[in-house]
Amino acid sequence: MNKKVRVRFAPSPTGGLHLGGVRTVLYNYLFARQHGGDFVLRIEDTDQARFVAGAEQYIMDCLNWCGLVPDESPEKGGPFAPYRQSERKHLYHEYAQKLLDSGHAYYAFDSTDELEKMRKDLRKDEHSVPQYDHTTRMQMRNSLSLPAGEAMNLLDAGTPYVVRIKMPAHETIKITDMIRGEVAFDSDLVDDKVLIKADGMPTYHLAVVVDDYLMQITHAFRGEEWLPSAPVHVLLWEYLGWKEHMPQWAHLPLILKPDGNGKLSKRDGDRLGFPVFAMNWTDPKTNETTGGFREMGFLPQAFVNMLAMLGWNPGTEQEIFSLDELIEKFSIDRIHKGGAKFDFEKAKWFNHQYILRTDDAALADLVKPFIDKELGIGNCELGLLEKVVGLIKDRCHLLSDFWAQGHFFFATPETVEMATIKEKWNDQKQQFFTAWRPELENLSSWNQQNIETSFNELLAKHTIKKGDLLQPLRIMLVGGKYGPGVFAIAEVIGGKETIKRINNVVASL
Ligand code: GLU
Repeated sequence: MNKKVRVRFAPSPTGGLHLGGVRTVLYNYLFARQHGGDFVLRIEDTDQARFVAGAEQYIMDCLNWCGLVPDESPEKGGPFAPYRQSERKHLYHEYAQKLLDSGHAYYAFDSTDELEKMRKDLRKDEHSVPQYDHTTRMQMRNSLSLPAGEAMNLLDAGTPYVVRIKMPAHETIKITDMIRGEVAFDSDLVDDKVLIKADGMPTYHLAVVVDDYLMQITHAFRGEEWLPSAPVHVLLWEYLGWKEHMPQWAHLPLILKPDGNGKLSKRDGDRLGFPVFAMNWTDPKTNETTGGFREMGFLPQAFVNMLAMLGWNPGTEQEIFSLDELIEKFSIDRIHKGGAKFDFEKAKWFNHQYILRTDDAALADLVKPFIDKELGIGNCELGLLEKVVGLIKDRCHLLSDFWAQGHFFFATPETVEMATIKEKWNDQKQQFFTAWRPELENLSSWNQQNIETSFNELLAKHTIKKGDLLQPLRIMLVGGKYGPGVFAIAEVIGGKETIKRINNVVASL
């Protein structure tokens, strides 16, 4: 029987959502949609020490912004609710008990000091840190090393304990990864991981297996950093008697720093001036805000498209894909095994492509918040903005660029490069601009064509080159040597404003 495809994104709500996390969401989502399956968001919040207020809502907001909305989640509910591990606490104990009963897990009573002492005493040389494993566990205080009655007494007396998995000695544990093929692990290198903590909460290792089983997850996509945990998970699936239900694993390649040297971290983004989180994240403890792609001015579609290509390729030259096209074309066998270098310039290129493809009215809506931030809400009229975005979108890579490239449409420039004008100013130019003013005031209708015609007609009466006038005119209107066609700018800012800006400059020369 073919099981319905069910995949999950299982973040721990501890802070900002890294772009690698969003890529995991995306690959999950694409795979689910491609197979008519379900995409589940499960919040893995069993580590109370790492609980961060607001982080769960933030994750959901990020997914909504990206348009990668889960079918089942804490917010939406679903047939396998609850979707928050902290609300599923009662479920895990039953399975821990099963493992204890079958001898695959044991109680350990060691205090933090005892564990510390073990690490010191059993250290053979400088390089090895002893693990809690088959070589050391019999020297520790646990239900395997203590006489049977004593362990029972400790439990009865309410002594704090953890439950650990009993890793087998000298075994090879294999998984078949959809991206990496067969991966083998030496059980001797894996420690007896804690399954239930002293606070009664399960650890990630137990909870992830129990929930993937109970939620009938068929394929588990997650970052490569989880590969070393895979042998523990495989054994738990086996020991709990669920081996034939184990999901197929896909460990996704890391996203690397731009120079390829190690995993891309938030700090790299701070250092190199680009975001690493999907959306702005404010740490509730420090109040420190870390910038996100959204606030920097990325379109969610561009962000998602860029992420799709960071670790996967379609096997063709095509780079721009709608979400529907990605659903159609995405394939696991084209996910790369090696890490993918993050390239911010390329990310901006994707965004630029989406800006160019967005019609002016829709683009104006997207740009508006960025202009409002500068002008104050209510001071930017959408009709005007629509004209502006049409004129300057080919110069903008980010939604936030529209202000830098187009501020002069909304307000008289605060600074004008007077030095550049002065350098080449002469009487002829003075005469031209003085003579042009009444012409402009008398234009029958204020549009680009009429403005340019009056300019050209006057030019014909003067012995001066057009180019020598266009540059100062641009600087008068814009403040600097940039922007779209100068007559188009004049049309948009209007007759009164154009004449005012010309006069301001000419009067001060
Ligand atoms: N809770 C883990 C995380 O924070 C999930 C890993 C997994 O998908 O198994 O990434």
